Amino acid sequence: MLGKKQINEAAMRLKDKSCSVCLVVHTNPDGDAIGSALGLYHHLTEQGYENVSVLAPNEYASFLHWLPGNDKVIIATVQKKLALKLIADAHILFCLDFNGLNRAEGLDEAMRKSPAYKILIDHHPQPANEFDLMFSDTSVSSTAELLYEFIAALNGDSTLSLESSQCLYAGIVTDTGSFSYGSNNPRTYEITARLIEKGVDGNKIHQLIYNTYSEKRMRLLGYCLSEKLEVMHDQGVAFISLTEKDLQRFDHQEGDTEGVVNYALSIEGISLAALFMEKNGHVKISLRSTGEVNVNELARKYFNGGGHKNAAGGKSFNSMESTLNSFRNVVTNKGVV
Ligand code: 5GP
Ligand code: MN
Repeated sequence: MLGKKQINEAAMRLKDKSCSVCLVVHTNPDGDAIGSALGLYHHLTEQGYENVSVLAPNEYASFLHWLPGNDKVIIATVQKKLALKLIADAHILFCLDFNGLNRAEGLDEAMRKSPAYKILIDHHPQPANEFDLMFSDTSVSSTAELLYEFIAALNGDSTLSLESSQCLYAGIVTDTGSFSYGSNNPRTYEITARLIEKGVDGNKIHQLIYNTYSEKRMRLLGYCLSEKLEVMHDQGVAFISLTEKDLQRFDHQEGDTEGVVNYALSIEGISLAALFMEKNGHVKISLRSTGEVNVNELARKYFNGGGHKNAAGGKSFNSMESTLNSFRNVVTNKGVV
């Protein structure tokens, strides 16, 4: 349940429907980020808000492009000036699915400078102290789940439209890997059931998200597993690394490696998995774990990142070879597994 005082505060701030509202998500936005932002976008515009915009720091996977309202998303790497102006002129900024302004790369400075009232809705641990109002709950499956609670508390469940429900459903499904992790809370299923009652076609959404691989993406997955997987059985660690050349060979598109790291984690005896990818002059790192192995701590301590206990990410500015060596060293000697 969300605090009544906080909901009243949000309602008060949102009183004027002509106010300018910006919904911002994190860099490399995933299904939960985009689903949450578009879910809230539909809700607010349906409620009569006249100036609502959705801002993503950069591009995202094509398997999310079917989401209703996708054409409304402003990609800051494409329309930088517009994105910065919207933030500077905003009355209210919603920060969705991230816990610190630096997670929205290229927009963070503008958000810090903006006089806008900043509302966080998020489920990552250790939120930064730079928001005016925080709805932060690490016990929920996804930001989309929290956003359902927020909308229901603010305006009542009956005001949630089919479009919003589809977006929130997509957020819950992607952040739980189709209810395979972070999904032991009965409330997640109660909310999912409500979204289905609203008319969401869960079968269709599953198809749109998971069964729309290009042939090249599927072959890249095969290559990752047969050629690029290293397993450290004694440590319970498995990882995959992809150089720029590997990615070019398979004509890599944004989102093509989504989910690859989970295959490494599905090997028996493996409790920590990683994916290393050369991207824009650095190595992007995705980390996944099971049980008590804490990849949030690992990412924060060694790889300039963070995230959740069992799903985190970071980056390295060293070469791939040296990054992999550091990783091997950390998991062998630092007692993380
Ligand atoms: P992914 O591996 O799917 O990119 O990210 C997994 C989780 O880690 C997500 O919750 C995401 O927000 C978080 N994450 C990914 N990259 C970074 C990063 O560079 N910094 C921080 N703080 N979190 C990250
Ligand atoms: Mn999330």
